[in-house]
Amino acid sequence: EILPQKVFQLAVEQAAVAITITDPDARILYANPAFEKVTGYSIGEVAGLNQSILSYKVTPRLVYDSLWAQLERKQPWKGVLVNRRKDGSRYLADLTITPVLNAEGDISHYLGMQRDVTDVH
Ligand code: FAD
Repeated sequence: EILPQKVFQLAVEQAAVAITITDPDARILYANPAFEKVTGYSIGEVAGLNQSILSYKVTPRLVYDSLWAQLERKQPWKGVLVNRRKDGSRYLADLTITPVLNAEGDISHYLGMQRDVTDVH
């Protein structure tokens, strides 16, 4: 029998979607193998860095402002961002960010889940 906590870990590690867990400042604490596949970055390379390292720097500031406004209301945000892989290539990320609340109801982490939808668009 596998303990529930171990099942969570195995599920996240084997998920087809790229998953990150960040601190409240969007600094990456964890990335799963699918994230490495999509972005070309290993977890060792991105640990402690802001998720903005993935930005292709063409997304209007307004998009990020509304993203953060939504998250600060403790609501999930979903959208498509233009991202950059480690090798500099561009891809479209279908991204969902979910605030993770602690027992006090405050945001302690963010859960990021993204798929490369370049071929879809
Ligand atoms: P920033 O310096 O981040 O500023 C942009 C705006 O957001 C400003 O209005 C600023 O005040 C506000 N802001 C920034 N950080 C915070 C904060 N911690 N709390 C409240 N407001 C804040 N971006 C991507 O481009 N691609 C991604 O794949 C991506 N994935 C993300 C995944 C997660 C889980 C999270 C939490 C964020 C992700 N982001 C992603 C957003 C990223 O963290 C940056 O905010 C974004 O890339 C813009 O970076 P910037 O340096 O240009 O601007």
